[in-house]
Amino acid sequence: MPSKVPITFDRYLLYAEIKQYLENVAAAYPELCSLSSIGKSYEGRDIWLLTVTAGCTAEAPHEKPAIYVDANIHAGEVTASMAALYLIDYLLGNFGIDDRVTRLLERVTFYVLPRVNPDGAELYLTTPHMLRSSVKVWPDDGIQDLPGLHRADVDGNGMILEMRVRNDNKGEWKASARDPRLMIPRQPGDTEGPFYRIYPEGYIKDYEGEPIAVHKTPWGLDLNRNFPSNWDPDVPGAGEFPAGEPETHALVRFIVDHPNIGAVQTLHTAGGLFFRNPCKCDENKMDPQDLVATKAIARQGTRVTGYPDVKSPNSSTLTEWAYEHRGIIAYTTELWNRYQRAGIDLETVRDKSEPDKFPDEYEEMCLKLLKWNDRELSGKGFVDWTPFEHPQLGTVEIGGWDKKFCVQNPPPHLLEEECRRAAMWIMQHAASLPWVNITDIRVGDISGTLKQVTAVIENWGYLPTDITNKAVQLKLVRKDTVELKAGPGVEIMGKAKQETDFLEGYISGTKSPAKSTVKVSWVVKLSRDHSPSPSVTVEYRSERGGTARRTYHFGKDDIQ
Ligand SMILES: [Zn+2]
Repeated sequence: MPSKVPITFDRYLLYAEIKQYLENVAAAYPELCSLSSIGKSYEGRDIWLLTVTAGCTAEAPHEKPAIYVDANIHAGEVTASMAALYLIDYLLGNFGIDDRVTRLLERVTFYVLPRVNPDGAELYLTTPHMLRSSVKVWPDDGIQDLPGLHRADVDGNGMILEMRVRNDNKGEWKASARDPRLMIPRQPGDTEGPFYRIYPEGYIKDYEGEPIAVHKTPWGLDLNRNFPSNWDPDVPGAGEFPAGEPETHALVRFIVDHPNIGAVQTLHTAGGLFFRNPCKCDENKMDPQDLVATKAIARQGTRVTGYPDVKSPNSSTLTEWAYEHRGIIAYTTELWNRYQRAGIDLETVRDKSEPDKFPDEYEEMCLKLLKWNDRELSGKGFVDWTPFEHPQLGTVEIGGWDKKFCVQNPPPHLLEEECRRAAMWIMQHAASLPWVNITDIRVGDISGTLKQVTAVIENWGYLPTDITNKAVQLKLVRKDTVELKAGPGVEIMGKAKQETDFLEGYISGTKSPAKSTVKVSWVVKLSRDHSPSPSVTVEYRSERGGTARRTYHFGKDDIQ
């Protein structure tokens, strides 16, 4: 069902367009979402958050279990932003129409941050440069002034590709006999040229016949190695100190400030898989039930996306921090994989893609990729080698894969499909959250106006109300409470509020039924003046599992 605010998923939106879209949906659906900023980026742009839930008043979102979804922490992974917007569009457009969406928004809050790194993404989308980080120069070691090759769009076609320079003596590469666009490594004893050297497209500082080095860009931060769990200053891009960047600091603070978050999804490209916990730690050291939950939820994700789950090899990521420090079930979802689309299996890509070690497999794989490019992308994913007079190197040929919109992100006509996969997976994950219901309130006579009120509270969700055992081990979460609130004409005898154990979810019920029900009783006294409608309200509060309320009106039968 189209939402009231039209959006298409066949291009990549700039910051101002995303902001406008979010403002429009917040205005069109005030009962379902609200827009706020969680902080500012390095250059001072707001990091926008759309809170989406049914009955989106100031209080309601906090009273439901929540899934947090962020996107585009890595500047160039702009598919992720579009996937977050697709999720928003899908939820808003289908509420009240699709039962699954309606129920989900009634019981769960979605915190969606479509563009965590707006500065980096803006630079990526408006210049030929590639970058992973924010636009802060880091480490500030004067890399821009070093002699050697610095990347630049030399031929002015809007892309930074590769330059192949003929060198029959020293050239390390040659064109494949099966497709002249494909460069393959020169083999021992190869004398039949032509041979080439390959460089990134760019200019050379202090040029003296040959580039003496090829430099990285000056934007060396990796915001997703800046989170405060197993943070390591020696990891490239880790930053000055944990959560030391404005973007990561804002995310950490937001998650800590919202203890109802029990699910985290951080959207990235490329990979066609999702990274899960544990990250640095071994699987056998992770709490067994938490591992079962993490894998089971991921399997549901695989079902709707076709993407496998993989134990994350990375530390100090949002996903690792979310579980290890906050006890939240978290995934890094890597959208888009052109190899998969070209029908190449992920094992081959992972194990056999180094051209010097596996030249035959590499050639085979690249030929398949080029054929797919010709067939599905009308050849647009690969720019054929085109002669160009380089002011320093003389005649070169510039060409190669479109790194932005074929390698790192899908070409626009394949974008919507990636967005859809992400949204379906995120909804699956959200549906695993606890679901607390007060299923019954019973009243029994004690004597005269004294009554016993008993409430039955149940968790219908997959996960327990504490989400993970990790959260309990870390003492991150208060016990659930249940409180009876007296309406007119009712007096509660004894303690109105008590603590209860966390309610298990159906995850723990395969060996014997889960402890997902609790019964709590109070004694109340009804006033003698027979207030016209005496009532009590039962309120169950779980920081992570949400709040449930139900009111009981005493009838004539109770009062006599
Ligand atoms: Zn990434």
